[in-house]
Amino acid sequence: MRFTRMIYGANIGLGLAAYLFATSAAAQLTRTAEVKDFPLRNGVHMFLATGGNVAVLAGDDGVLLVDTQFAEMVDRLTAATKKISDKPIKYVINTHWHFDHTGGNEGFGKAGARIIAHENTFKRMSTAQELPAMNMKFDPSPAVALPVLTFTEASTLRINGLTAQMVHVANAHTDTDAVVFFKEANVIHTGDVYVNGAYPFVDAASGGSLRGMIAARKKILAMTNAETQIIPGHGALSNAEELKSSIAMLEEMEKRTTAALRAGKSLEQFLAGKPIADYDAKWAPREDQGVVFVTRAYEDVARFEKKK
Ligand SMILES: [Zn+2]
Repeated sequence: MRFTRMIYGANIGLGLAAYLFATSAAAQLTRTAEVKDFPLRNGVHMFLATGGNVAVLAGDDGVLLVDTQFAEMVDRLTAATKKISDKPIKYVINTHWHFDHTGGNEGFGKAGARIIAHENTFKRMSTAQELPAMNMKFDPSPAVALPVLTFTEASTLRINGLTAQMVHVANAHTDTDAVVFFKEANVIHTGDVYVNGAYPFVDAASGGSLRGMIAARKKILAMTNAETQIIPGHGALSNAEELKSSIAMLEEMEKRTTAALRAGKSLEQFLAGKPIADYDAKWAPREDQGVVFVTRAYEDVARFEKKK
């Protein structure tokens, strides 16, 4: 989807530094990223490049992609699917509306793919959106990039002899989230409801919440077993054990944040106590990511505590 960037005055400081780092690094990666193919089970593959991870299912009925990264990646993703199958890319499922998961929709849509997503993904992509946490604004996407088929709770696509179950998880990463479970293959694409090896991004401006994300990860865990291959929104291929440990981390985070709020601590006081230092080594590759996560978690939980 098309986007423009804007700087919010209030975010000058750490937010701006992190933003500049993230956007210049992302632009560089998008120019050079190669698509790495990880064959999983029953003809399902994971493509890892830049932007959200992509699930691919190829077969006689055509190719299905889950998520489309960025517009610049359409040619490289198409070339990577050609190495698996000579069939056209017939379907795209989006896990949520974010630009790093839907940016290729326009290109694949023009090439004939039919796009499927949660109803709120359609709503958000068809209207102007903002991501204040990343200083970004988005124009409505052109019709060809929008889902032609939407669902609210769940939907099922039967393709290439497999069942792809789409299940909505409410108010987690956003209010547009759907996980895609390839039942017979026992492979699940979680979208950004679960990212591997990093603190999550709770996009409160898009209807996400920390408590919703914990509930969503538990719902995903209930769909899995020890053999399930989990394609996270970002990061390396994962499994139920790692997902479980991420839930424990989020629950502890929610507990500490709620306790701080009920004790009347300000965000500054909460941050000064380095409240998740014991988790940073495992979940924050860069130091500022812990601060960003604590800040977002505090602001998010505060919204719900105030309503009580
Ligand atoms: Zn996202």
